[in-house]
Amino acid sequence: MARDPRYDILFEPVKIGPVTARNRFYQAPHCNGMGRTHPTAMAVMRGVKAEGGWAVVCTEQCDIHPTSETTREIRLWDDRDIPALARMTAQVHKHDSLAGIELTHMGYHAYNFTSREVPLAPSATPVHGILPAHAREMDGTDIADYRRWHRAAVRRAKQAGFDIIVVYAGHGLSLAMHFLSPRTNRRADAYGGSLENRARLLREIIEDTKDEVGDSCGIAVRIAVDELLGKAGIASDREGRQVLDLLGELPDLWDVNVSEWHNDSQTSRFSEEGYQEPYISFVKQHTSKPVVGVGRYTSPDRMVSLIKKGVLDMIGAARPSIADPFLPKKIEEGRFDDIRECIGCNICVASDMLSAPIRCTQNPTMGEEWRRGWHPERIAAKDTDDTVLIVGAGPAGLEAAMSLGRRGYDVMLAEAGTELGGRVARECRLPGLSAWGRVRDYRAGQLNQLANVGVYLDSAMTADSVLESQCTLIAVATGCTWRRDGTGRTHADPVPGLGDGNIFTPDDVMAGVSITGPVVVFDDDHYYMGGVIAEKLSADGHEVTLITPMAEASAWTVYTLELDRIQKRLLEAGIEILGSHRLSGLGKHEAEATCVHTGRTRRLACASAVLVTGQDPDDVLYKALARDQDAMAAAGIRHVVRIGDALAPGTIAAATWSGHRFARELGKRVADEPTYRYELPALAEPL
Ligand code: ADP
Ligand code: SF4
Repeated sequence: MARDPRYDILFEPVKIGPVTARNRFYQAPHCNGMGRTHPTAMAVMRGVKAEGGWAVVCTEQCDIHPTSETTREIRLWDDRDIPALARMTAQVHKHDSLAGIELTHMGYHAYNFTSREVPLAPSATPVHGILPAHAREMDGTDIADYRRWHRAAVRRAKQAGFDIIVVYAGHGLSLAMHFLSPRTNRRADAYGGSLENRARLLREIIEDTKDEVGDSCGIAVRIAVDELLGKAGIASDREGRQVLDLLGELPDLWDVNVSEWHNDSQTSRFSEEGYQEPYISFVKQHTSKPVVGVGRYTSPDRMVSLIKKGVLDMIGAARPSIADPFLPKKIEEGRFDDIRECIGCNICVASDMLSAPIRCTQNPTMGEEWRRGWHPERIAAKDTDDTVLIVGAGPAGLEAAMSLGRRGYDVMLAEAGTELGGRVARECRLPGLSAWGRVRDYRAGQLNQLANVGVYLDSAMTADSVLESQCTLIAVATGCTWRRDGTGRTHADPVPGLGDGNIFTPDDVMAGVSITGPVVVFDDDHYYMGGVIAEKLSADGHEVTLITPMAEASAWTVYTLELDRIQKRLLEAGIEILGSHRLSGLGKHEAEATCVHTGRTRRLACASAVLVTGQDPDDVLYKALARDQDAMAAAGIRHVVRIGDALAPGTIAAATWSGHRFARELGKRVADEPTYRYELPALAEPL
């Protein structure tokens, strides 16, 4: 389809100093848990972004020196680091995009676990987080050293083929930002005190960078113009804009955001598309240089309006480019229904936080482009004569049906319920999770375009009906059920007293079962469900106590950057959070909680308990089929497999990945050898 002229503006070229971006789509730097340890996987993933139409494709943060060392991101410490990055720029250039590199020294955010160097800071300070270590104050020699390291990294970046050097002062994750912020800079010399002094180091490294490569590379500055700390930090209505007045014309492009990372990458549970706009919309009035910003933008109309209103010149995206590397191309080709919109869940962030290769709930191919050869838009044509029955239309079943349909297989998707989506259809009705419905909506829309996939609602399958289906390959994607006895991580045996109480599970709450308060929610799952259920019951008017063996509610959400916002929301709703306790007993009117450290007990009024503990796969159908191999053979079925939560309950991301894998591999058994490619570290010679 030809491009709708309404969107022409998004495809205008943008000049960034000596280089020109072919359109206004800018893949902002984003971590991916692969850079240092899986360099080729990272390079090919970035290349796919360029293929998908992002005119600028940036790396994640790049460490420039052993005094700033993460274990997972890319680095440019010396010339030996150049080839891995040259591989990335080559992939990006193949598709006529510009490659950008975000050079950073993380200052007091660096843990330096491997190098064991003492972290550096403008003023002596404990290291960020809870590590028992301090960063030392930099003296004049340290500052000169830092500028030299930065220059050397700039030089190497150019050698590696980068077109844009991003000077980094964002997220509180860089020395330049640490010098800028009065919170972290208490110096009395020429680098401390007035804003002009605090901005001196940033000015110097921009100038150094220009001096080094300004004739051939664009110089971008990525900066947090608001720390969302009010008077205690940089704010967009005061020093945020004064910095722009000081340095506005120095670089070739401004990439502006809010810091720290949990503010920049807010989830859809807490913010809407475009949540950064109030903080960054002033920037263009303070510079003539192009401005890029982010805010989980997936709507082409919103993008056009941002450009026309003069808020941005380029649409920055990390997560929307992860969920759909082909977002720009799809807009260009007028394929709006094919856009796989980010749901704002931050599973991508969590994988990086855990130093694991990136994954995405919406895009199961993310991180697998080279490792498994999965492309987000291409999949091999069918190579067997199978007809496939998929039982269950949750995220796993939907993804499998869609991907098999694209391969050209004849597929039947049978769903017991009257709507598509499975858990996603239920969970997106919980407070704050409506965007998660996009997992269903995208796939349902794609299935509509596939004549070879039949979708059958209200079709509960039994072993007999599967045997009669005349399909040769069966995927059981029947999901899972929350346990009703409280067993899981903490309790190997059922919680005592279950028989006397009103016991419910998240499945009951989502089904709208009537519950009387006061309610105790026992969260032994630790991801979002316990907190969201408590929030819903509180909004329904119940007095709610959330008991968790962890110190905080929804403890795992520290990895999705939501932990603090969840505590705030639950506490402000009046929910009592009883941390470090397990639910140890239930009666008709009260519950007993036991401290996990001391064994001391306490009693709480409790008319109903909601148990958010373990889950059981719904695999009755699978087992009935697998048990009777003779009947399967007689019915012409060559293989039956479980996928998604029916195989092992987990995240939605795990379910879509499982469904996708099935579509690619048709349920091959786990092999003796690894089924994906990986790189080995080069051995040092001589020993
Ligand atoms: P997953 O996350 O693995 O995709 P879900 O729980 O989201 O799992 O979805 C499972 C879907 O399977 C639900 O919509 C459920 O109604 C459906 N289902 C369960 N048992 C059957 C069955 N016997 N026949 C057809 N559909 C089923
Ligand atoms: Fe968006 Fe979630 Fe995918 Fe991250 S994991 S890109 S937040 S859908």
